[in-house]
Amino acid sequence: MNSGISDKDKKIIDWKCGNRCAIPECRKELIIDSIGNDQKSIIGERAHIKGEKPTSARYDPNMTSAERNNHQNLIILCCDHHKMVDDQPNTYTVEKLLEIKRQHEKYIRESTANEVINTTFAELNVVTQYLVSKQPATSDSYKVIPPKDKIQRNKLSTVTERLIIMGMVQVGLVSSFLDRIPDIDFGNRIKIGFVTEYERLKNEIHLTGDELFDGLMEFASRNSSIFLERAAGLAVLVYLFEKCEVFEK
Ligand SMILES: [Zn+2]
Repeated sequence: MNSGISDKDKKIIDWKCGNRCAIPECRKELIIDSIGNDQKSIIGERAHIKGEKPTSARYDPNMTSAERNNHQNLIILCCDHHKMVDDQPNTYTVEKLLEIKRQHEKYIRESTANEVINTTFAELNVVTQYLVSKQPATSDSYKVIPPKDKIQRNKLSTVTERLIIMGMVQVGLVSSFLDRIPDIDFGNRIKIGFVTEYERLKNEIHLTGDELFDGLMEFASRNSSIFLERAAGLAVLVYLFEKCEVFEK
């Protein structure tokens, strides 16, 4: 780990690498959970693609220190593979490491999306089915007021607004469900999956307004035609919409 790296760059690189070693044959988890009174153990390191010091592997004298410590020049590796790539710079060239980094980030993006889908909805469906069976819609539920300004800023129609109102009825449930999950990263993983899909739909497919909302709705419900799965997906999507985690604030 290096002190020259800004906190922002650390966050970006950690988020993009999913805290796993980027070497494809490895992909070892780099954070070992805390046990009892002992803290977490971090067994990963932020390695420089173009070396940090003149004596380091792949050093480029034409770079500034800020460029060397930018997330674009960093790759997360386990301790063993950090040593290996620095001992073997003829095999692990700049080009090779950039390609490993690119492939790894793609792998993490895709597996995060799958993880969201696989872990989230199995559990959310349980909650949603419970909710439906208990018919918990009390009179309070009909008083939900959609965030009008946010709906306008995201160019959403009254049809989508009605969907949002439906989802809002269950938002409290999603929220308390997420609070109860012992895995503190669970909510964060859901958020990352949705933000990734939001950015993809917006920037690569150029969807806006209702189409963008519908696209995320498909993602949230895994294109399912089962009502409960769609309802669970809608609840999570509206939860994130309300919290301003996804969509324009
Ligand atoms: Zn490794």
